[in-house]
Amino acid sequence: MSFRSFTRRDVLKSGAAASVGLALGRRASAEALGNAPGKTEGPLKQLEYGQVTLLAGPMRQQFDQTHARFMGLDNDMLLKPFRQGVGMAAPGDDMGGWYSNSRFWVTNGGSDGFVPGHSFGQYLSGLSRAFAITGDAATKVKVEQLVTGLQPTLLSKFYDGYHLPGYTFDKICCGLSDAYALGGVKSAGPALNEALAAALPHLPEKALSRPEQRARPHKIDADTWDETYTLPENLFLAYQRTGKPEFRDAAQRFLEDDLLFNPLAEDIDVLPGEHAYSHVNALCSAMQAYLSSGSEKHLRAATNGFRIVQDQSFATGGWGPGETLLRPHTDDLARSIFSEKNSFETPCGAYAHFKITRYLLRVTGDSRYGDSMERVLYNTVLGVKPILEDGSSFYYSDYTTSGRKTYHHDKWPCCSGTLPQLTADYGISSYFQSADGLHVNLFVPSRVTWKQAGTQMTLVQETQYPLRPTTKMTMKIAAEREFSLSLRIPAWAGPGTRVLVNGKAVGGELKPGTFHAVKRGWRDGDVVEMEFDMPLRLETLSMNVSQPSPTEPGTFLTSQTTTQLGALMSGPVVFMATGAWPIEMRSQDLLGAKKVAGGDAYSVATERSPVTFRGFMGIGDELYRTYQPLKAEE
Ligand SMILES: [Zn+2]
Repeated sequence: MSFRSFTRRDVLKSGAAASVGLALGRRASAEALGNAPGKTEGPLKQLEYGQVTLLAGPMRQQFDQTHARFMGLDNDMLLKPFRQGVGMAAPGDDMGGWYSNSRFWVTNGGSDGFVPGHSFGQYLSGLSRAFAITGDAATKVKVEQLVTGLQPTLLSKFYDGYHLPGYTFDKICCGLSDAYALGGVKSAGPALNEALAAALPHLPEKALSRPEQRARPHKIDADTWDETYTLPENLFLAYQRTGKPEFRDAAQRFLEDDLLFNPLAEDIDVLPGEHAYSHVNALCSAMQAYLSSGSEKHLRAATNGFRIVQDQSFATGGWGPGETLLRPHTDDLARSIFSEKNSFETPCGAYAHFKITRYLLRVTGDSRYGDSMERVLYNTVLGVKPILEDGSSFYYSDYTTSGRKTYHHDKWPCCSGTLPQLTADYGISSYFQSADGLHVNLFVPSRVTWKQAGTQMTLVQETQYPLRPTTKMTMKIAAEREFSLSLRIPAWAGPGTRVLVNGKAVGGELKPGTFHAVKRGWRDGDVVEMEFDMPLRLETLSMNVSQPSPTEPGTFLTSQTTTQLGALMSGPVVFMATGAWPIEMRSQDLLGAKKVAGGDAYSVATERSPVTFRGFMGIGDELYRTYQPLKAEE
């Protein structure tokens, strides 16, 4: 998948055709959509959490399971590192893992306790979002209790000797901001100010890259790992929600312009070697700078930065093997298949990926960001193992030639914080409102409600997509209303893809890689069906391999051979080899795969026995292989 890059020159050109040009021209319609004056919006508006209800299916199950896990955690246990950090009585058990308060972690060799309480804010955020979705009274009580419990610990003293103050404050800022805006907890507003005042004395004067942190005096290596360049996103959000200028000022102070956004805005790739998740997260800070202040430079930086990440992504949509961004258009990514089992930091990476694609979709209206989002959904996060009661968490997807799903060795890592946030974001990622109707981005069993010209509308979507290539949407409307229902036609959609209204195929060309608008007077009971043509295809990576010289040991021949690796795909889903597989496979055998009865798997003929291919969601504890080494054409 590739997105257009653009520079300042393109934007200045009159009528710049780029989707961004469209977004910049749409500010007038933002007010029509009811946004606060002065705030920039694109053609699509994000819905409120409560407007979308997921119905039975794997996404709802993952949301419910994760929500229940965090509802079940003891409040004293969650608050313990904060109370200990400021010298208060701290009853309750230790959480363990990254979360606990053992500040001697460096000497005991593991990562236990190196960022005490780091993910508290994310758990609070996940619960606040879950309350906004479900209206569950017990969830609201827990959010209130956690805010009340945290408030007396919001002191500068907590961060004395703390290795990554920006990292943990960023999450607390997000959690309190969500508790305030989504959890309905008023006291979270003043708590946000107290949290900012407690953290500021421990933060640098500006965002610092890792090399900049290493160049400054520090006690241990972990003191150089802070991620202050991710702070602006949640600070801008806190500003929008509270109207308090100190959050805007802090947000602007931590925008990483000099080393990151200025070069990216000019389409200069400064990302190779950088930490993957936190830098995609930083692109979300650039998007918030655009949305909060209209800074077009930051929109260019985010758009270009995301395109650069796409250009070095696996077929699954994942990126950043070894948590590191690579050089696009090289064989670095292919090489990682043979050298790096930590292929994609899955819950965190998917969380950042959903956020950046949601921002870019809102601002540009470009459906390909939705294509990218659903690829990450079905091939990564929806297939992770659930968080266990002891904090065991799924962290890395493994795309090597013998992959296996595992739990991370450290309890309560970063990925235990992003999973509750992301699963709560599934609904708001599925639909968007536009000036003339509703956009359907994800094909998910769900119910969405919105107002169209003052009338309450409901659309119910029933589907087993992507395992079945269809979806059905039914209108529930009090009175007839004319509007556009815009349906994402994925870029991979084959020519047999159809949209039917009340059983009749709609006219006009369905262009893959766009939203297709069906505009009509909609009535109660109208049914929209989509049939997706999902032909099998291979997405390949190639790798140049130098041949060892047969006559001079230790030297290599100048001629190189190319190794091709292929991922078998149908629609958005990568099908991975399971069971026993041959070292190499033939492209024509892969493309001739037959659906196994039931439709959730494919069978591929080989020279020996057939191999069963499954999607990541359908894989349990067995070994799997994402990329098949392809036999050279004879
Ligand atoms: Zn993580």
